Amino acid sequence: RRGWIEVVCGSMFSGKTEELIRRLNRAKIARQRVEIFKPALDTRYHVEDVVSHNATSIRSTPVPLAQEILLLAGGCDVVGIDEAQFFDESLVDVCVQLANHGSRVIVAGLDMDFLGKPFGPMPALMAVAEYVTKVHAVCVCCGEIASYSFRMAASEDKILLGETDVYEARCRPCFLEGMQEK
Ligand code: ADP
Ligand code: MG
Repeated sequence: RRGWIEVVCGSMFSGKTEELIRRLNRAKIARQRVEIFKPALDTRYHVEDVVSHNATSIRSTPVPLAQEILLLAGGCDVVGIDEAQFFDESLVDVCVQLANHGSRVIVAGLDMDFLGKPFGPMPALMAVAEYVTKVHAVCVCCGEIASYSFRMAASEDKILLGETDVYEARCRPCFLEGMQEK
């Protein structure tokens, strides 16, 4: 069996989770064995489900550490991972091992943090993946294509869980403008 890695990346509200759920549902229709994981710290909508901003959802297993995915996903046809940016760097090796053993691995996550910097294991995952899809949101300021997640709150923590109350999808000029005003 041939395995590979697919990455779905982009800003907040860009449709990463929607696209992940779409791909996983199609694999289920093909009667493939599918498992979905997310970092245990992401409980914004639901403890066990992966939920998109468009309210589509799929049952998932929250795991505290990337290594646990190896123990739980052995022998799966398709392994889905959402919010991958919250895992540590060992997620890269976990995905490579799963793909080497024949699984199709679909990883969704933020490519950049609120400062516009590459986020956690995402850049390395994009390097080792066979397929990388960058999806885009709509800039809430001007309606252009958005690739940045602008944080409205003052917190400087790398991880600050939040939704439209804390983050805005913005295009490059509107993101820069917001950062200068801070
Ligand atoms: P992600 O996982 O990338 O954060 P989701 O798949 O959860 O995104 O949600 C995508 C959905 O978010 C869109 O289909 C749309 O309904 C909604 N949405 C809210 N704000 C925006 C925005 N600024 N641009 C695009 N979609 C948005
Ligand atoms: Mg998402």
